[in-house]
Amino acid sequence: MSPVLPKDLVARIKEETDIAAVVREYVTLRAAGTNLVGLCPFHREKTPSFNVNPHRQIYKCFGCGEGGDVISFLMKLQGLSFPEALEILARPLDVDLARFLVDNDEAEGERQAFFRAQESAAALWSEAYWGREGAEARAYLEGRGFGQEILRRYDVGFAPAATSWLVEGLTRRGVDRDLAQRTGLVRAGHGDEPFAYFRNRIIFPVRNIAQRIAGFGGRILGEGEPKYLNSAEGPYFSKRELLYGFAMSRIPIARHKTAILVEGYLDQIALAQAGFGNGVATCGTAFTQEQAKILRRGCSRVFVLFDGDAAGIKASVKAAAAALAGGLEPRIGRLPAGEDPASFLLGRDATALTGILESAPGYLQLLRDLAAESGRGREARERAVKRAIEAVAGVPDPIRRALLVDEAAEVFGLARELVGAEVARHAEPPRAPGAAAARSDPAGVGAARPLQPERGLLRVDPATVEQQMLAHALADETGDAAEAMLDLWPDADFALEPARRLHEELAAWREQRRLGGAPPPAGFVQERWHAHDDGFRRLVTDLLTNQEACSTGDHVRVVRDCRHVLEQDRKRRRDSDRTRTRAGGRGE
Ligand SMILES: [Zn+2]
Repeated sequence: MSPVLPKDLVARIKEETDIAAVVREYVTLRAAGTNLVGLCPFHREKTPSFNVNPHRQIYKCFGCGEGGDVISFLMKLQGLSFPEALEILARPLDVDLARFLVDNDEAEGERQAFFRAQESAAALWSEAYWGREGAEARAYLEGRGFGQEILRRYDVGFAPAATSWLVEGLTRRGVDRDLAQRTGLVRAGHGDEPFAYFRNRIIFPVRNIAQRIAGFGGRILGEGEPKYLNSAEGPYFSKRELLYGFAMSRIPIARHKTAILVEGYLDQIALAQAGFGNGVATCGTAFTQEQAKILRRGCSRVFVLFDGDAAGIKASVKAAAAALAGGLEPRIGRLPAGEDPASFLLGRDATALTGILESAPGYLQLLRDLAAESGRGREARERAVKRAIEAVAGVPDPIRRALLVDEAAEVFGLARELVGAEVARHAEPPRAPGAAAARSDPAGVGAARPLQPERGLLRVDPATVEQQMLAHALADETGDAAEAMLDLWPDADFALEPARRLHEELAAWREQRRLGGAPPPAGFVQERWHAHDDGFRRLVTDLLTNQEACSTGDHVRVVRDCRHVLEQDRKRRRDSDRTRTRAGGRGE
């Protein structure tokens, strides 16, 4: 459940935010008439069909149908909840959203409490790092070549060993012992005495996609086991789904259309310090398809840059396979043996790394190279081919898969037909056609049937006429067309489900109008559309951008005509059903 936010607050955030500026962080836009157009970030395309209308403050893709306002844009692109997207937009506006995001229901209250506790701990540990307690930690990181500025930017901290230090500090910041324990900062011991989870460790706060601190990685200072310790898995901290550094690198990633994937917190910070802003790190675990999908929203290519030893290469191969399966194009940067990205960049020019990335092979080439290097001849090569075929078979996009078949044939010097047949054998069995169609369009917006000839009679498509009627009901700022539609059509028995909901919304608009102070119908619907799903916003943005349909000034008349056409059509359908029944027919 999302918290209830005052409507004028949402309106203010939308008003003061320039949708074009936000979209431009992800999409290159150029002017086209009164609109701005660019390549859609929600589907792959070569010619721009993604439109931003700065006047209406909405976007619409004519390729895939995606549409909405600046809030739904961020929600969709970054996988955020409504309040999370608002929070990001509110930041530069000096709006204190936190005030509104309190205990509206229990789950939200607990969620906020969780993040408040993590952020309080992060602040405490950062103070400690830069204070007396952190002297040894500072000496260690300085010795490894990390400057003050970059460490501050990543909120690096130090957790002293004493549990009482943490508990007292948290209490001072309004996080009581119970909350600290519930959120995993303090653990119950075997006896009665609780203990701090992170002790004597350099702390790396891990932010989620909404830039909240979801948990921590801690590196032991000096000797001890484990060398790295992460926060325990929980509802807000899932290592499979978090990428360290992504909160800061997502914009450079979207800009360069490329990400650099490393394994360690310090590798990631070293990259940023050397000027590679598009780095991300796994939290010391294997790279997953979930993480690949997060990256996939901003870029298509990822450089895998792991340690130069045998274990690092093995992990690179796995990560590259996951990237491929997640729809990314992986290239594998190979560091000299014994080096990791942080050590490699220490004392070297950034161009040294650029050189490695430029010559980084793709997944298939890497498999071939590793087989050749192994010196085990045909056997190793055969294994490499099998591995390549399995990976290619797992690529979801059929076009990419076909191109990769070509590439594999070339890289391994095999006949394309042979590789193609093997890939097909490994590929998943195709889904039932009906199931696939239902999944691809759950809201049924795109399901508008074409005109169907039946018994020599060309029927109208009711969904199309309904949409035309609704478009005019929204276009008429006086509200008369919407009123006319509600009068003529009091029941929301439309063909398409989102249209039925829009009818209900317009009925709600009329209620508010009667009470006084309702905005025009289109404004009213947009104020409330975040409570609905994508299908609903697609329909509404479709209707709002359908300029041609609404060019007439006589909206009320069009509504009446549409209603008439629909009545006639229903009558014809009833008659033909009756005729068929009488003739003993069995329907279609
Ligand atoms: Zn699109």
